Amino acid sequence: MLINQAPLTELAKQVFIHLGATEERALETAAHLVEANLKGHDSHGVGMIPTYVGSALNGRLQVNADAEVVRDKGAVLLVDGKLGFGQVVGRQATDLGIERARDTGIACVGSRNNHHLGRIGTYGEHCARAGMVSVHFVNVVGHPPFVSPWGGRNPRMQTNPFCCTVPTAGEPIVLDMATSAIALGKVRVASMKGVAVPDDCLFDAEGVPTNDPGAIGSGGTLGPFGKHKGYGLALMCELLGGGLAGEWTMQDVSKQQDYTVNHMLMFIIDPDLFGGLAGFQREVAGMSDWLHSTEPARGFDKVRLPGEPERESMAERLAGGIPIDDQSWGAITRAAGRAGMTDEEIKAIVE
Ligand code: NAD
Repeated sequence: MLINQAPLTELAKQVFIHLGATEERALETAAHLVEANLKGHDSHGVGMIPTYVGSALNGRLQVNADAEVVRDKGAVLLVDGKLGFGQVVGRQATDLGIERARDTGIACVGSRNNHHLGRIGTYGEHCARAGMVSVHFVNVVGHPPFVSPWGGRNPRMQTNPFCCTVPTAGEPIVLDMATSAIALGKVRVASMKGVAVPDDCLFDAEGVPTNDPGAIGSGGTLGPFGKHKGYGLALMCELLGGGLAGEWTMQDVSKQQDYTVNHMLMFIIDPDLFGGLAGFQREVAGMSDWLHSTEPARGFDKVRLPGEPERESMAERLAGGIPIDDQSWGAITRAAGRAGMTDEEIKAIVE
């Protein structure tokens, strides 16, 4: 099915309100998820609703928690998300960092104990809109690992995302990526759609490459992107996001349970600390033009900058609607029911 931004946001918002969230928190979380769908990352969109509902009903997700500053010294802040909606408490921590960076020129924010943060690029874009450069190292804990280290066949980490965002005079440059060869949610989406995953992303329980998304769940693992290099970056996300900011890394097996927690270490930098925003943006614009002027290689239509594929997807999906496969839609509506919505309430929003 194809569904438009407005009803999908309203449905997600109502699910979260039925879980007890305030309208404001429910709307912020819903809008973040739907924006992920619009930007082409269905893995981090409304398909997460069943997981969030399960997490709230079993008492993990605290739907009305706000982030709280637990340490504050100079340019450094440690902020506890208290297992609130990551989309809310992660943004609150980012706001605190932006405010601090305006004062000190650079802020380093440890944002710990966030329930799933969703698409990390959202926080980077938030910084870029404020004229800041940002770097985000994130780890993922709270459930068992699925990603094997380079050269190994046992899962040891998660898809630990990394993001770096640069403000421009127009749309920001947004490098926002899982450090696994494929995001776990994309394996879930492939499994729901019954399609194969690309080559060199998944390994079966014997460590043999496979295209079957079902390998996850039967002892298989996701590999890191870029072999030892992606593995190295994933490790830094684990150590900086998890070890430094969160004091919770994947090796604590007793804490591998049934929910998703993200810890994030952010560096937020005011370009005015250096040569100033305008001069920086001139360099960025010149470099962007330089890259865009590259002749496309065989099989490619053009060279893009990080963040452009998401904006292309958004333009397309705003105009034509967001595609949701039947299995995912079934899971979302069943979750809405578990949250307390009636079929009539759901139909009134989406039909
Ligand atoms: P991806 O592989 O689709 O894209 C990664 C990056 O590459 C993006 O910045 C994108 O703009 C850029 N890109 C893609 N094609 C490009 C091209 N042709 N030219 C130039 N740049 C290009 O993303 P992913 O690794 O599948 O991650 C998907 C999302 O999952 C991200 O938003 C990430 O934050 C999120 N994520 C979240 C968690 C979590 O625990 N919260 C965990 C893992 C991933």
